[in-house]
Amino acid sequence: MPEVVFPLDNSKKFTDQQIVGHNRWHPDIPAQVQVKPGDAFRVECREWFDGAIHNDDSAEDVLNAPLPSVHVLSGPLEVQGAEPGDLLMVDILDVGPVPQEDSGPLAGQGWGYTGIFAKENGGGFLTDQFPDAYKVIWDFRGGVATSRHVPSVSFVGIVHPGLMGTAPSADLLATWNAREQELIDTDPDRVPPLALPPLPDSAVLGTLSGDDFDRVAREAARTAPPRENGGNQDIKNFTKGTRVFYPVFVPGAKLSMGDLHFSQGDGEITFCGAIEMGGFIDLGVDLIKGGMETYGVSENAIFMPGNVAPQYSEWLAFSGTSVTLDGKQHYLDAQLSYQRACLHAIDYLTKFGYSPEQAYMILGAAPIEGRLSGVVDIPNSCSTVYIPTAIFDFDVSPGKGGPHQVDPGQGVPKASF
Ligand code: ZN
Repeated sequence: MPEVVFPLDNSKKFTDQQIVGHNRWHPDIPAQVQVKPGDAFRVECREWFDGAIHNDDSAEDVLNAPLPSVHVLSGPLEVQGAEPGDLLMVDILDVGPVPQEDSGPLAGQGWGYTGIFAKENGGGFLTDQFPDAYKVIWDFRGGVATSRHVPSVSFVGIVHPGLMGTAPSADLLATWNAREQELIDTDPDRVPPLALPPLPDSAVLGTLSGDDFDRVAREAARTAPPRENGGNQDIKNFTKGTRVFYPVFVPGAKLSMGDLHFSQGDGEITFCGAIEMGGFIDLGVDLIKGGMETYGVSENAIFMPGNVAPQYSEWLAFSGTSVTLDGKQHYLDAQLSYQRACLHAIDYLTKFGYSPEQAYMILGAAPIEGRLSGVVDIPNSCSTVYIPTAIFDFDVSPGKGGPHQVDPGQGVPKASF
């Protein structure tokens, strides 16, 4: 096992750890760990809500999920010699859940969860159809996820970090804050909000204190969106074996990571849509001096995905076009056509006895593939969602005998405001 440079005690809260990480992006959050180009090391990560979501049959915790506190990130790690303009090469050597023997009362040990956020607290991709909160617990065994809340489904995990990235420069941070505020100002009262401005409430900023803490808390960017530094990209193919090239914006690069997922479908559509968990990630780092200019990488990270993927070869695919449910034509709107493809798949799965919430959870958590199939055929974009048929323990394809009926079991816990 590589040296653990960022250890966590899973019986303790994030702010009570030996090294306290952070949950905002800012260049002035001090690095507390130093690594060198060529090093390999282990970082432990808390699940993104720091244990607020429990292994039980109630969705009250998801309904009241403490969104201002996310994402609890491990880092920043200073990479010696990294300078603005370099590319930071990060190899994901291994990634997995907290070993079972370390299990404590908090989330992330041999199990994980998928949530649907209420429209008033987070929302999601299909929040108009699913305005309430729901939660599903998944158990891990032999690399496979199953759930007492979603019967007759099991799939191989493709474990990956949802979030990893370098610190922004002061200029880049100011750019983020300005452009996101401009968007918020177009509809400041929207529910859910258009973007999340800096928020001192619940900010955790490593070792900062006093006036520095107050200033940075007012300026620091939230971790929900992906941006030029990587960030919360939620790319399910960031499995072990992946090599990522991050732009370096500050001396030392200040690499941070968290939001580990046991599995996820393309789009992480319920927003809390992966199987969220705590765990560990083993990394190797190196530098390409001046690599941002050499390779034209200034917009965002580039990556070479690992070869770890479930061996699914048969799929049932659903398509959608950019027409709203009530029949309004939109022009080449890929977000809308992917929503329609997903709603199409959900409707289909309910014919087999699943509730709409169970079907939505399957699309969020299982390794489904989302594709932009057509983006030029005016006025309709065509998006498709591919579901691996082998995740079901029955034949999910259409046939002359009609749909097999699953026993929906206890169903998905729900909570409403
Ligand atoms: Zn996540």
